[in-house]
Amino acid sequence: MPCSSWHFVSAKAAFCQNETQQDLAQLLSHNATVSSNIPANFRWSTYDEPNPALYITAATEGDVAQVVRYANRHNYPFLLQNGGNGWADTFNLSGCGLMIDISNLNQVTFNHDETQATIQGGITVRELVAAAASRSARIGTATCNCLGFLGAALGGGQSRIDGLYGLSVDQLISATVVLASGEVVQTSATYHPDLWWAIRGAGPNFGIVTSAVVKVYPIPAGQNYAWQASITLSRDQIRPLMEVLSTLKLTPEMEFDFYFATSGAPSYTPAIVVVPFYVGDESAARTAFAPILNLNPVNITGGELPYEQWNSAGDSFCTRGGRKPAYGASTARLDVDTWVEVFHSYEAFIASNPTAFGTSSTILSENYPRPNTSLESALTSSYPWRDLGRHHIILPSYTDPALDEQATTWAASVRSMLWATAGTAQNSRSVSIPQMPLNIVLTIRFSSYINFAHGDQSLSTMYGQSLPRLQQLKRIYDPWNRFDQWFPLFRRGDYWP
Ligand SMILES: Cc1cc2nc3c(=O)[nH]c(=O)nc-3n(C[C@H](O)[C@H](O)[C@H](O)COP(=O)(O)OP(=O)(O)OC[C@H]3O[C@@H](n4cnc5c(N)ncnc54)[C@H](O)[C@@H]3O)c2cc1C
Repeated sequence: MPCSSWHFVSAKAAFCQNETQQDLAQLLSHNATVSSNIPANFRWSTYDEPNPALYITAATEGDVAQVVRYANRHNYPFLLQNGGNGWADTFNLSGCGLMIDISNLNQVTFNHDETQATIQGGITVRELVAAAASRSARIGTATCNCLGFLGAALGGGQSRIDGLYGLSVDQLISATVVLASGEVVQTSATYHPDLWWAIRGAGPNFGIVTSAVVKVYPIPAGQNYAWQASITLSRDQIRPLMEVLSTLKLTPEMEFDFYFATSGAPSYTPAIVVVPFYVGDESAARTAFAPILNLNPVNITGGELPYEQWNSAGDSFCTRGGRKPAYGASTARLDVDTWVEVFHSYEAFIASNPTAFGTSSTILSENYPRPNTSLESALTSSYPWRDLGRHHIILPSYTDPALDEQATTWAASVRSMLWATAGTAQNSRSVSIPQMPLNIVLTIRFSSYINFAHGDQSLSTMYGQSLPRLQQLKRIYDPWNRFDQWFPLFRRGDYWP
């Protein structure tokens, strides 16, 4: 950017910081804070992270609506921050951008028979799991403790217990939403059912959920546990491993992840780690995962874990800071030849600069059981990929911005490899839009679960068959495209209501 523009932006930001800080201090509740000091490591990844002029910490649900109305009056961009893990490359808070942190809105209350809970919008997976565990119950959350429960759920929310209870988004019973106008509405299957459909898959494009009622599953005392293991295999076991994983039948109690990692300094030798998960006891789990255990792995650790520890294995993945331009691909199957090639590509990437890339770059594959999806259940929410159970993240991790181009080129190339044999090439999806005489058949060849997407791909790879109806509803609920930060349904500059 030319220097003159830079001065203009800086002056504008300084002006808005002073004025806005004073205005908001008067509008917001006593315990809310408004600061031009942006907290260190406030995001999981520094790559393309949002760059707000002001960081607002909401203390009440009413504060959130106040900030949205204020931002509208001044035409300032704003972004809600919950867990701060989203890695979309679509954030743009230039000028007087406002970040609204709702991590203090983290309360949860249970109903009398503990089958439902009312949560505030900023509760994390860790906080929600701890609350459910203390009542001998389960809630279908995503699998990493650091995530905002709703940050993950509003895009779908893949959970280890998907097979038993459904996606995190299916756990929602009703929600309170701050719309783009700043109006606060209730939504559920009976109140604003079209908004209800839209937020469950594309939530951040439609509003801010400040509270929600979710399903809770009481579990008899002593039975709230599962078996989990960490199985390490060497590089020469990649093909036999992929042959086993690609054909392993997943029952509803089962789920597995696998990822590539290195031994670290000095050799940075790549290896494969499989993390199988089974809701049940160890002997049943070992039977279910016998084909992997029989591969003569290098190392196996694990055992039965209480519910509150199910996500602990992912805590290192939650480490904040550093550059992590992640790319996602979703597939119907694991293609053996492709995955062998992908592993070799990972090895070559690490070998190109072991000290820069070799510590925590990875490729992670999450594999969930998927029952045959009926048309009815596919249409109940805007989440489009109910028939796809395999979601993959290509994750280069490093600190030097000069390596961005090499890292993103590699990650995008691996995504192309995975898409090429995704098993979705003939994936025709019928789309009918209510109140319109339309019945479109879309052919969507490539898919990315939105929460794992990068942001450079077409909208249909993320929103699938839901895209036309979502865009129609966006014109109704957010005609000025105020929620335009998270994989926006209309590209900035393309949108004319
Ligand atoms: C370490 C790690 C582990 C992960 N594991 C899983 C997993 O197991 N399963 C899975 O499905 N995904 C997983 N993901 C992906 C994750 O679902 C997304 O990154 C998700 O967007 C994170 O939400 P957040 O609240 O933590 O992040 P944020 O960046 O705070 O939020 C992401 C987006 O959601 C919006 N948002 C958040 N809360 C609300 C709300 N209450 N109302 C409206 N909009 C909201 C934000 O404005 C932002 O646009 C993982 C990601 C990471 C980094």
